[in-house]
This record gives sequence, structure tokens and C-alpha cells, in this order.
Amino acid sequence: MNMNEILKSRFGYEKFRTGQKEIIQSVLSNHDTIAMLPTGTGKSLCYQLPGYLMEGNVLIVSPLLSLMQDQVEQMKVNGEKRVIALNSFLPFKERQYALRNLHYYKFIFISPEMLWNENIIKKLSTLSISLYVIDEAHCISQWGPDFRPDYMKLGRIKADIGNPVTLALTATATKEVRSDIKGVLHMTDSREHIYSVDRKNIAIAVKKHESQDEKLESLLQLVSDLKGPGIVYFSSKRMVEESVDWLKSKGIDKISYYHGGMEQEKRILIQQQFLSGQLDVICATSAFGMGVNKENIKYVIHYHFPSSMESYLQEIGRAGRDGKEAISIILYAEHDLNLPLHLIEQELPTDAQVEGYLSSFTKMKAEELSFQLQLTDIQQRFLQYYASELQKIKVSIKEMKKEIKQIRDNRILHKKKKLSIMNTWLMTSTCRREGILRHFNEKLDDKPEQCCDICGISMKRYESNRNNKERNQEEWLSWEKRLEKILLG
Ligand code: ADP
Ligand code: MG
Repeated sequence: MNMNEILKSRFGYEKFRTGQKEIIQSVLSNHDTIAMLPTGTGKSLCYQLPGYLMEGNVLIVSPLLSLMQDQVEQMKVNGEKRVIALNSFLPFKERQYALRNLHYYKFIFISPEMLWNENIIKKLSTLSISLYVIDEAHCISQWGPDFRPDYMKLGRIKADIGNPVTLALTATATKEVRSDIKGVLHMTDSREHIYSVDRKNIAIAVKKHESQDEKLESLLQLVSDLKGPGIVYFSSKRMVEESVDWLKSKGIDKISYYHGGMEQEKRILIQQQFLSGQLDVICATSAFGMGVNKENIKYVIHYHFPSSMESYLQEIGRAGRDGKEAISIILYAEHDLNLPLHLIEQELPTDAQVEGYLSSFTKMKAEELSFQLQLTDIQQRFLQYYASELQKIKVSIKEMKKEIKQIRDNRILHKKKKLSIMNTWLMTSTCRREGILRHFNEKLDDKPEQCCDICGISMKRYESNRNNKERNQEEWLSWEKRLEKILLG
């Protein structure tokens, strides 16, 4: 069977979408490939289809559990039985079983933290993996928004599994990030397939406010007026929960929240309710949304603005996947810059934590040390990764401390730079779409009618017929009155 036949018979699609064919051909002709296609345009097909034309297994590294579960479920629904997700969600017994029978699975999804498990790597190296896929590959970039040391391991694992053809998929990666990806994955003779990040059906707006109270009122107004479903992003878990409570008290229903501090089961449940239309609004931290495959999202509101253009584009890219018009609105108030600045400074270990960790990490268990120094997950991973890397090159503890502080400072600086680019964009008085595209080294040549708040957009188009409910009620009341009349008079 050829590509077109498989597209129809396996996937039930009539034709390839922009970019898919080129990317698949590149992979099939054994080229390492970096592919950048906007969110929701069909990157998964770019490894699933080749999987059917290649001998051997496809290994897919996927950064988020919920995303992975979702992909696997979808593939199963589409009739693919030979698919498995190796992640911490898989019960121990099932994992043992899966590992014993790994060769049976055509598509093996794995979460980055599983790659630290030597057993799994050993098992993987006995297979003949013909395609190695890194989904959401921008996470690799050392300086990217989702820094995770796990990603640095990806290159080494590539060698362990016999250097298969490698495909890195992303929706947003600047040149700089793409070159990071190539570096980490040792892609020397790679092909790049880069398509515009512009999503023309998403109008872009920034709304400025005098105070936080005014901003909150604005949120209520929008959530009441706008056609759903929609997502509202916050950068604090507490704010996510409090805002949902407050919006509920103001009569907004079919609303719920989602953040990384919630139980996995609860998160999957909420996501499922949103996907199936039981919920109309979801208030969430950035933990929500990567890979969420809901076509009809009409708006994405940022109560707190994202800390980089890349994250911003990822997040608004969840709207309007059905090609219909959608809107992204950032609510901005004075002093809003303080929160992300604070988050950046808090994220990585302090001097005292670096010192404490390095003085004891060879003598104490990781969990104990983590507890003693009150390290967050990210801080712990950061220290653990760099300590073990530096240990390999046998640097003294004193040098290690200095080096790690330096790495941390560089990273903070880099994050602040990204944030400042975002902030400058927020303050701009020229076309916002042009600004976004400039950041990704693109030019805007075809401006949509509903472009941005600076070029002018008509908000009415995004509002639901607000009086619908009231009108129905009126009709119902008048019917009741009529009945009253009939009975009483
Ligand atoms: P991405 O990973 O780029 O965000 P996905 O791979 O999750 O996007 O695909 C988004 C949606 O597009 C899915 O519902 C998928 O079934 C659909 N899709 C992908 N390719 C095609 C195609 N060639 N024709 C029609 N629908 C497609
Ligand atoms: Mg995807």
C-alpha cells in the first residue's frame, strides 16, 4: 500500500493537510526531520502513517501523561491494538507484562521520566526501532518554557536504541530552539519542514485595566458574553480555584478548574468533561491543554499573561481548530509583570539550596534531602541532573556549586529576556499579529479581517446571543400566565 491508500484505509482521511505529505516523505526516505506545524493541524499522522510503512517499532516520547493517554485512546478507537503507553500511570503488573511483550507493540509511547529507568532502556535496546519520535520537541530546548533535564537524556537514548530515523515535532520553535533540538538529538544531516505559525482564524486582543478588581469584572463579563467553549489561563493554582468559585457565585455554570496540583484521576475526569461538552469553561494553569484535541474551542482568555511568546502561541493555538473564528484575549492590569518575574525567580534553587544539596547529595537519599531543603519538583530535578552531569566529569564539590549557580543564573536571565519580549509585545501599538510573526522570523503577508485589537476587531462576532436565556424565560412565563388565565379566568 502507498501513502495515499493508507491515509484513506487506516485513517479515513481524504487528503493530506499542509505539510503532512512532505514530512512523511522525509521520514520515509530516512532523514532525521524537524517538523513545525501549527497546533491542531495533524502532527500525529506524521509518525503514525510512516509506522505502517516501516518495519519495526515506533518509539514516541511524549511530555505529558494526559496527552499520551489521549493519543493512545484515540489510536485504539481507530482500531490499532499494538499501542502501549509506558508511564507512571501504568500499574506495576501491567508494566511488567508490557515490558515482557514489548516487541509486540508497533507504537510505544513513553514519558521522559521513564527514560531514567535502566530496565526499560535495556528492553528498548533489544527491539528494532525504526522511528524515534519526540513530540512537543520544543520542551527539549534547554532554555525552553518547559525545561526538564529528562530531555537532555534523549540524545543518549537515541544511540542506545540503534540510532533510528528521528522525527522532532513541534508547533512553536524559534530558530534558536530548533538548533537546540538538533543538538540534543544529534541530528546532523536533518531536514527541516517549517510552516507558518500564524492562525488566521484567531483574532488577537489585549485588554488593559486599571486594577485587579476591574480585571476580574472584565473576566466575568467576557465569560458571560462570549460564545463557548473556552479556556481561561492563570499562572497560580490558587487563583484558578478562587476564580472558579467566584464565577460560580456570579451565576456562571458549566465551569470547572484544572491544575497540576490535582489528582491525576480528577484531572482526567475534568478534561474528559470538557472534551465531551459537559463543561463550557475551564479555568486552568498551563498544565492544561497540550494535546487537548477539542475542535470547537471559541476563546482562550489569559487572566495572567504567559511568560514567553512560545507559550502564548501554544496556548491560544487550542482555539478554533475547526477553522471557525475564535478569539484570544489577554487581560492586563498594571503590575501584572510582577507575578511572572516572581515565579521565574522562585523556580530554581536558591544559593542555600544549591550549597545544601551539593554538600550532602552523595550521603543522603534524594527524597530525604529534598524534604530537608524543601525543594520543589523542578528544583530537585534541576539539582539532581546537573550534579550527576558534573560528577561524571569529576569536578570538585566547590566547583560544582559555583558552576550550578552560574547555570541557574543564566537560565533566570534567559527566562527574563523571554518575559521581557512578551511584555514589550503587550505594550506595542502596532499590529499584534505582525509582532508575533516577526518573533518567529516570519512576515505577515495576508492580514485577516479580524486581526487584532490594534487593527480593530468586532467583539460582537464572538458573543453569544446573550438574551437567549432571558427570552426563553419570558416565553415560558407568558405561557404560564396564559395557563393561569385559562384556569383562573
Ligand atoms: P497536532 O499534534 O498537530 O496538534 P493532531 O495530530 O492531534 O494535531 O491532529 C489534530 C486533528 O486533526 C485530529 O483530530 C486529527 O484526527 C485531525 N487530522 C489530522 N490529519 C488530518 C487529515 N489529513 N485530514 C483530516 N483530519 C486530520
Ligand atoms: Mg500533537
